[in-house]
Amino acid sequence: MKKRIKIAEPCIGREEEKAVIEVLKSKSLSQGVKVREFEENFASYIGVDHAIATSSGTTALHLALLSCGIKRGDEVITTPFSFIATANSILYCNAKPGFADVDYESFNIDPERIKESITSKTKALLIVHLYGMPCDMKEILGICEDYNLMLIEDACQAHGAMYENKKAGSFGNAACFSFYPTKNMTTGEGGMIVTSDEKIAEKAKLLRQHGAKQSYEHEILGYNFRLTDIAAAIGIEQLKKLDEMNEKRFKNAMLLTKKLRNLENKKLVELPKIKTNRNHVFHQYTIKIKAGKEAKETRDKIIKELDKKGIEARVYYPKPIHRQKIYERILRKKSINAELKVAEKLANEVLSLPVHACLDREEIEYIAESLIQIFEENGLE
Ligand SMILES: *Cc1c(COP(=O)(O)O)cnc(C)c1O
Repeated sequence: MKKRIKIAEPCIGREEEKAVIEVLKSKSLSQGVKVREFEENFASYIGVDHAIATSSGTTALHLALLSCGIKRGDEVITTPFSFIATANSILYCNAKPGFADVDYESFNIDPERIKESITSKTKALLIVHLYGMPCDMKEILGICEDYNLMLIEDACQAHGAMYENKKAGSFGNAACFSFYPTKNMTTGEGGMIVTSDEKIAEKAKLLRQHGAKQSYEHEILGYNFRLTDIAAAIGIEQLKKLDEMNEKRFKNAMLLTKKLRNLENKKLVELPKIKTNRNHVFHQYTIKIKAGKEAKETRDKIIKELDKKGIEARVYYPKPIHRQKIYERILRKKSINAELKVAEKLANEVLSLPVHACLDREEIEYIAESLIQIFEENGLE
């Protein structure tokens, strides 16, 4: 039987295996020299002064917001079209999320909608470089300056992505990365905060370690959000391969685009577009289904048919954050912009196809040909 093509797969080699064994033999397993080395290498890769490793992308976001001074009563504007951890990090700080709708073509937060959502309580913007393509940084930095807002980047899907030759994660007061196994690079579980602000870096380090600089001297309420040296050892090796893995993703994406162009010409799908001045690292290759009477129905049928052919396609995300029960409860009570039509339309149309770095040319061609065949077989022409 043909091997199933998964939507995501970590690329782990001998280097990672060797690095982990070395740490195990050293018997220093928790946060130590390997975490420090990983932090230094990562900061230098992104082009910032400081990197603080954490236990996950979620804990990185939580600490980044706290370190930027987000607190009860503050409002933070974010996107409704992301993984729930993005908005949850605002709630962890007892602050209020304000949702600004996304741009239909780029899937990213729309700067015009951000401006409409700003109130006297807005303290920060929490933007997401979704699927690996940087947001409109020029416009967003302009808004931050005009309205005196902090900027936090959720770069959990954008390791190595660039906007005008600057890496995603180097624009905000702070930025966050995730190293979950489905991301462009992994440590199993893990995260990273990056910043060039020494005060933010110091605060994040303090919060990561139970609010203590010295053992058993607790200055503030902190957490245990540390990364292990075992995980960091994997991260050090993964970071060395990141550019190569991203190039592979890009190549795979370009091949999918070439093969699926005809479906787009027939207006059956819309393919991902790369906006000017930026490098896309294709965490996901996400198309929009435009065929059939109901986009959602057609899409869900296509997922089932792809599955029969051994291809795992997924929807990121089937339900926008403001439609999740927890947020519906909050939004009912508080007056937050709930006019998020683009996010709702996208939730019905988007479909992510496998594009990850472990896939070869033959597999990508098989994915494209299978999709074309499904459109034909189901009379979707
Ligand atoms: C993966 C992800 C997170 C959370 O990272 P974890 O490491 O899973 O906690 C946050 N935001 C976005 C956009 C993500 O893709």
